[in-house]
Amino acid sequence: MGLFRTFFCVSLIALAVHLVRAQSVVAVSETAQVAQRQVAVTIDDVPGEAIRESQRCDAAAYRTQNIKMLEALRRNKVPATGFVVEGGRCVPRRAVVPEILKMWLDAGVELGNHTYSHPDLNTMTVAAYEADIVRGESALGKALAERGKKIKYFRYPMLHTGKNVATKKAIEDFLTSRGYTNAPITIDDQDFVFAEAYAKALDRGDRSTADAIAKSYIEYMDTVFDFFERWSVEVTGREIRQVLLLHDSPLNADHFDELVSMMKKRGYSFITLDEALADPAYKLSDNYTGPTGLSWLHRWALAKGMTLKQEPREPANITRLARGN
Ligand SMILES: [Zn+2]
Repeated sequence: MGLFRTFFCVSLIALAVHLVRAQSVVAVSETAQVAQRQVAVTIDDVPGEAIRESQRCDAAAYRTQNIKMLEALRRNKVPATGFVVEGGRCVPRRAVVPEILKMWLDAGVELGNHTYSHPDLNTMTVAAYEADIVRGESALGKALAERGKKIKYFRYPMLHTGKNVATKKAIEDFLTSRGYTNAPITIDDQDFVFAEAYAKALDRGDRSTADAIAKSYIEYMDTVFDFFERWSVEVTGREIRQVLLLHDSPLNADHFDELVSMMKKRGYSFITLDEALADPAYKLSDNYTGPTGLSWLHRWALAKGMTLKQEPREPANITRLARGN
């Protein structure tokens, strides 16, 4: 009995030592892996435009969607920056904006300006675009002022930064004069197309198609990350701190957990936009002028005389579902 007990105790100690070793190995390898890649999550079009067609004028639906999105960020401990579009086609959407901005700020999420009405710089005058930027500071500026803060970041709608040098320079100077920092993105994707297809499926009550779209979305985003990780090495010689572009949509609100788990599998930890932009890569030249909205990795590649590569697009069936045919 004594012998058995001694043997049992020794075994237990051996097992405990083994477990502690195994745990520390896991902890070390996880730490090493997590430290490898970093990404800042940015969420455009707050309080959401790709909301279901049947709910586009429903204040309660915007409220519910944004509560879900913020809960997903909190649950996954992901810092994020939202970019606000205060205007919109419906009075209820415009009316609910101050309340939703308060929700985001209460949740500790940073907010930047994404213009008032999401205009296209390619199709308007500099003066009209500037006026839309200023109009977009109304509820946002007030919500931030109540917390002793000011608007810091601006995100160009559709990433259109000017078709020619004069326009690009005029808007850049205007942003600087109002104290803005441009918020570039490096990981560009078609989440809004998946979001449109997903919202349409939900509107039809077609849950199985909505689930299939969500699954396809996560697989697609995995390929997008793969592309920009490799492209980052080609363009800058290393994997930089990335900035991800997402949109405030039912798709992202409902499936953010899966997106986070895909990113974690790829070795990502989550950082703020400030932390991402501290990477010296963001000081590289962006001389691009033209009609296309491009990832800043593409802009830096062009400045270095490189030939661009096309990032992954959504599968054809998702395009069809988004169009409603
Ligand atoms: Zn946008």
